[in-house]
Amino acid sequence: IVHWPFIVSQRKRYSWIQLAGHKGNFKAGEEGTVLKKFSENEKRCFERLMEDVLYSFVPAYHGMVEREGEPYLQLTDLLGGFNGPCVMDCKIGVRHPHCIPIPPSLSETPALHTHPSLIIRDTRTAYPSLPHYQRHLIGSPLLLRSPLSLMLCVSLQKADGTCSTDFKRTKTQEQVTLVFRDFVEGNKRIMETYLAKLEEIRRVLESSEFFKSHEVIGSSLLFIHDHNELANVWLIDFGKTTPLSEGQTLTHRAEWCEGNREDGYLWGLDNMVRLVSNIARD
Ligand code: ATP
Ligand code: MG
Ligand code: MG
Repeated sequence: IVHWPFIVSQRKRYSWIQLAGHKGNFKAGEEGTVLKKFSENEKRCFERLMEDVLYSFVPAYHGMVEREGEPYLQLTDLLGGFNGPCVMDCKIGVRHPHCIPIPPSLSETPALHTHPSLIIRDTRTAYPSLPHYQRHLIGSPLLLRSPLSLMLCVSLQKADGTCSTDFKRTKTQEQVTLVFRDFVEGNKRIMETYLAKLEEIRRVLESSEFFKSHEVIGSSLLFIHDHNELANVWLIDFGKTTPLSEGQTLTHRAEWCEGNREDGYLWGLDNMVRLVSNIARD
């Protein structure tokens, strides 16, 4: 977690919060923007997203900039406009690029290993056709199978400034419900706003050409609200999102099996909508 005090405008000063991700990956940008370490893949995604119906549901992309010789993607700072924001980063989908790194010692044998509560399988030999990053996530049968792990909350910051990043044990519906309730401090109106936004996002995703033609891995929904009950949700992090081959499409709901590239994004979102609606309406 990085707190980044920087000037947004002459009058307003606040600290930027980076919840997840590698600490060196972000820099404060010009007024109202953040800089994310460049990746060709993510740049291509943002260029296409700017032309898609998802345009207003992702941070606006303002092109590449260089700082100290390093290239960055310049993105609209989603915290702008909030007053003392509370932020939650939830990865969506059933596949994640770096949840469970496979130990190098397992690299040669396609064996099954039990590691605390997770079964790690070496997929390099079992699925040699897969690109490197996919191997890690297939080693995670729990993430693939458990409908409860579809909402992996990565990190959050609450109004009192406290941050949490350890949600490895947050798996059951009851546990995730508690995390959400605590995040909004029981505020039903904020939950209702989040619910409406999630439903809107689901509708737009179902009509998005970008979404239809991409495998979305390791992407998050970023929830932001403040004490004025301003609340919004954005899709972020397309570093591991890749285009499908010409003509291929995904349901984003079907179960993953080797080669079908299904990511479970809508399956996860369906679960999240159900859970948020239970909280908003009970
Ligand atoms: P990882 O792949 O480990 O999830 P990453 O390096 O790809 O991380 P992101 O997930 O894109 O980085 O972002 C990390 C964190 O930075 C988010 O959880 C969020 O708190 C913050 N962040 C990212 N983009 C923005 C943005 N446009 N505006 C405000 N905050 C942002
Ligand atoms: Mg991320
Ligand atoms: Mg990422």
